[in-house]
Amino acid sequence: MVAWGIMDSSINKILEVPVHERLPSKCIELISCEIPLPKEDQVQVKIYGAGINFNSIWQSICHPLTPRALVDGHIRRNPSEIQNKQNFYIFGSDGAGIITAIGKNVVGWKIGDEVVIHCNYVDPLRHSLDFDQMLSPSQSIWGYETNYGSFADYTCVNQGQLLKKPAHLSWPEAGSFMLTLATAYRMLISQNGAQIRPGEICLIWGASGGLGGFAIQLCNMIGAIPVGIVSSGPKKIYCESLGCKYVLNLEEIGTPLFVQENGEPNYLAWKKLKNYLTKIVGAEIDVVFEHIGRETIGLSVYLMRKGGRVVTCAASSGFMAQIDLRYLWMDLKRIIGSHFANFTEAAASNQLVNENKIKTTTESIINFEEVPTYLDRLYLRKNIFGKVGIRF
Ligand code: NDP
Repeated sequence: MVAWGIMDSSINKILEVPVHERLPSKCIELISCEIPLPKEDQVQVKIYGAGINFNSIWQSICHPLTPRALVDGHIRRNPSEIQNKQNFYIFGSDGAGIITAIGKNVVGWKIGDEVVIHCNYVDPLRHSLDFDQMLSPSQSIWGYETNYGSFADYTCVNQGQLLKKPAHLSWPEAGSFMLTLATAYRMLISQNGAQIRPGEICLIWGASGGLGGFAIQLCNMIGAIPVGIVSSGPKKIYCESLGCKYVLNLEEIGTPLFVQENGEPNYLAWKKLKNYLTKIVGAEIDVVFEHIGRETIGLSVYLMRKGGRVVTCAASSGFMAQIDLRYLWMDLKRIIGSHFANFTEAAASNQLVNENKIKTTTESIINFEEVPTYLDRLYLRKNIFGKVGIRF
């Protein structure tokens, strides 16, 4: 079969290029390998739809960790996974398809079932499905920390990663919503996240992106008020079309950088944005939906009302950040760390799509050959709205 990923032998060559000069399309490669066979607790899935996520960018550019280091970490946490170790890494943490083979311990699923795969890998022998598996010492992200992901004709996944495909979705739609929707669900709705309440105001960074598009819809679903932040006029229009009540276009406001070159906060820019927000929204921010990191996390803490919560799952602009802690403790604010979702949260997200309470945001559907081009577009923030689905 063919797959997108990288060969282990290519990693050293990628590392010779300075990190800021690496481009996903110059690193990712087409791999030819055997079709994987399921272990006892696994199924083999023929992939019909998949989705592009930012984690394939991190893998491609080998930053902050190489795929080799990621998979080695997974094997340290799950020693029996050494059997799966390969000299290649197949990317892709979102996928949907049809079960084509089944391990002998699998119950409740059969060959021919249409499934959506969620990307939380935990050792099936160690945890039941009602435990918060994100806390498991065995926890890994499939297609990021494992050898086999969804950018391939076939993959193998644990039975605990399977959910029934919502019948009304096309394959690229079904294969592209789970990672970001379930992450946003845990961040905003679940008891493990900010647990946003009706009437609360939620500031959403990168509101037109994969996470952002679902964060807007989840706020509206719960009766909270989404306030999106974007970097261009078309992105603003897109967020409004998703039901975002207020959208701030940073290009329009002309806000300077929030962090100076030496990493220190730019307090003038912070004040300017806070004043602007107060004028537009007319109330203080209760919750901030964070994933930008270095450029915004300090500002996010500053912007909220007393007692507000920042919930964060990423650091696209850099993970070493400065926070002025005075705004945290004096104003009794909280920062909540969040990472993907456990089985219950993923299943709840699938159900929301199934019931049409949340719409998928697969705005672009691309062919398998176009994966490198679209990874670049996502990386360079070039006119990508919502999710990119891949048809096989
Ligand atoms: P997208 O690229 O779809 O959206 C991110 C948005 O963030 C962009 O639309 C962009 O909007 C904005 N942005 C602002 N600054 C930056 C920057 N420096 N680099 C990149 N984007 C920026 O990505 P996702 O929403 O899918 O994911 C966002 C981040 O969250 C990624 O780092 C990803 O790896 C991480 N993530 C973590 C998960 C977890 O479980 N821990 C799960 C899912 C995602 P604009 O141009 O309008 O500012």
